[in-house]
Amino acid sequence: MTITPDLPSMTGLLKTLVETESPTHEKSAVDRVGTIVAEQCRSLGGLVEIHPQHSAGNHISARWGSGPNILILCHMDTVYPLGTLAKMPFYEKDGRIHGPGVQDMKAGIVIALAAIAKLAATGMPASRSITALFTSDEEVGSLTSQALIESMACDAEMVFVMEPALSDGSLKTWRKGVGDYLIKVKGRAAHAGGDHEKGRNAIEELAHQIIAIQKLTDYSKATTLNVGMVSGGMAANVVPDEAMAEIDMRVLQPGEAERIDAALRALKPILPDTSIEITGGLNRPPLPFNEINQAAFVKASEIARELGVELKAGGSGGGSDGNFIAPLGVPVLDGMGAVGDGLHSEREYILASSLPERAALLALLLEKW
Ligand SMILES: [Zn+2]
Repeated sequence: MTITPDLPSMTGLLKTLVETESPTHEKSAVDRVGTIVAEQCRSLGGLVEIHPQHSAGNHISARWGSGPNILILCHMDTVYPLGTLAKMPFYEKDGRIHGPGVQDMKAGIVIALAAIAKLAATGMPASRSITALFTSDEEVGSLTSQALIESMACDAEMVFVMEPALSDGSLKTWRKGVGDYLIKVKGRAAHAGGDHEKGRNAIEELAHQIIAIQKLTDYSKATTLNVGMVSGGMAANVVPDEAMAEIDMRVLQPGEAERIDAALRALKPILPDTSIEITGGLNRPPLPFNEINQAAFVKASEIARELGVELKAGGSGGGSDGNFIAPLGVPVLDGMGAVGDGLHSEREYILASSLPERAALLALLLEKW
């Protein structure tokens, strides 16, 4: 059944999409969502293109009309492993819809399709084209989709990202940049009883490094470092010769990613006869609320007022594919998806009423942009 922009139809498609589980690393599962999305796009008159992938799910794009382009970005993968539905089923209660990936971002897909359905019913805008891109690997850093996202964004005058709104409905007009690093420490193994003094404890060395890394955090600049995983050693009675830690870096201001990268690479071992190795880097650049995006927000706010909607600007420490757009100089508004809370957790839900509201908003923005 082709989607229509009313609540029962939107909820129906949302149920189908949520009940088609799609963890990023399960290609065939994500491809099942892709098949549903491609069918919907075709039945709405879109020119569908499949972008095949070997390991990740296929990316899907669909285009309507010709002329200057507006890009709508969605992702089809979720963070929940197959089988999550058994303990976290799709259900609706007291105006809230629950389920794995319901907010991030299966509702965003539904809203994008419903907005296009709304336009298709009244006639697509004559002088512009709309492209919707549905990717398969956003939740793990968009390794196979980044180039496609960037090339499509370069051809667009405006990009709308269907990630969830903040819980008060605000758009995500800024996002922090995200980096991942790994630190590996090498020491020297020895018997903890007989040869303690001959050993070089890699975990002790790592402890020194962790303190130094955490200290690079600067809240006044919105820069954070989090050592979130540590491992090392094999038994309590062995001086460990290896230890490692995974580091999450978040930055917002220009130059901060470079400052942190340089500081991490300049780390030196404290204990004699140990060595450290740092790998990794920036995965997603910051998405600042710069002049270009402020102008886009003002324009969107004016259009939204025709619906009696007052848009609010907000931000998030989390990255999305919207981050890739900022360095291209193309305006982007993120957080155009459903209103709700609890994404990436068993509490994830959306407000059902936000489905038709957000579809009407996106449809009007596409029509009047
Ligand atoms: Zn998302």
